[in-house]
Amino acid sequence: MSWGGIIHAYRDRLPLPAAVQPVTLFEGNTPLLPAPRLAAALKGDLDLRLKYEGLNPTASFKDRGMTMAITHAVAKGAKVVICASTGNTSASAAAYAARAGISSAVIIPSGKIALGKLTQALIHGAKLLPILGNFDDALNLVRQMSNLPGVEVVNSINPVRIEGQKTASFEILEALEKTPDFHFLPVGNAGNITAYWKGFCEAIPKGPRPRMFGWQAAGAAPLVDGHIIKDPQTVATAIRIGNPASGPGALAAAKESNGRIDKVTDKEILEAYQLLAKTEGIFVEPACAAPVAGLKKAIAAGWIPKGSLVTMTLTGHGLKDPDTALSVAAKPSEPITPTVDAARKALGL
Ligand SMILES: *Cc1c(COP(=O)(O)O)cnc(C)c1O
Repeated sequence: MSWGGIIHAYRDRLPLPAAVQPVTLFEGNTPLLPAPRLAAALKGDLDLRLKYEGLNPTASFKDRGMTMAITHAVAKGAKVVICASTGNTSASAAAYAARAGISSAVIIPSGKIALGKLTQALIHGAKLLPILGNFDDALNLVRQMSNLPGVEVVNSINPVRIEGQKTASFEILEALEKTPDFHFLPVGNAGNITAYWKGFCEAIPKGPRPRMFGWQAAGAAPLVDGHIIKDPQTVATAIRIGNPASGPGALAAAKESNGRIDKVTDKEILEAYQLLAKTEGIFVEPACAAPVAGLKKAIAAGWIPKGSLVTMTLTGHGLKDPDTALSVAAKPSEPITPTVDAARKALGL
């Protein structure tokens, strides 16, 4: 059967009105890639599989929730969808709103959105409203605007977003035909870890289920530090959040699964980001490297028994944030005259 998006695939497990037509860009069905070279580089004796969500239509996992949110918004007769965003939610909302023929408005922290994400929102015709504040301020504003007539909020405070995102867990279990021992993923606003745990609980009602290991950036780690962070800072802009809306869901997932929420520094994130790109040929945005750095930490700490099956979500594509990639990658050499001698010299061959 050909792929028709997550609603088509999992309709019986998603809350939707009976007659509704899905708004879809055929999101989901992303690959679960074995990563033996990365596992070896992290000095882990484990079977590592990477759920590459950067291969969704707008290049992040946000599309799984957005097909649900926009489908619901259209069914309710919404004319405008609105969201606060660190970038990927706005890219996805803009694309799915365009697909549905309705308009979108996105509230973003001024100056802190990665170039690729901004580009996507603009080309799909979203009304982009930067605010003098961070993501948490943007989400506060959106909450206050949720009662305006014809307006639907499509942030993950909208429960159907979580419902759509849980389908990634179903896909992992179907691809493996067994249950991972651990699942690793980044944590920002904490909707995704909440959704994955919901998905695993629904699909494996009696357990055993994967232990959930969620990773925050050290400068934006409210769930690890135990308090709201007023001015969160990290190179991983997708998880630069100081007051996660789904914080309780993340903490419950960690507790119920005997997992943990932990943090890694920006330096560790950027090292892991380059390691993943160089060992496996997979290019992600910095937030996705938080669980890679986290796995390194977990292996070193002895938390991962030998032979474990570990799955990890890589949440978004590297082309979202070209500036960070260029800031850490080697620069190209000076131009040469096109002779074999000059080329050999320049390349050291
Ligand atoms: C949104 C996002 C996250 C964080 O997900 P939450 O559900 O907010 O925890 C991580 N990585 C990327 C690429 C994202 O777009």
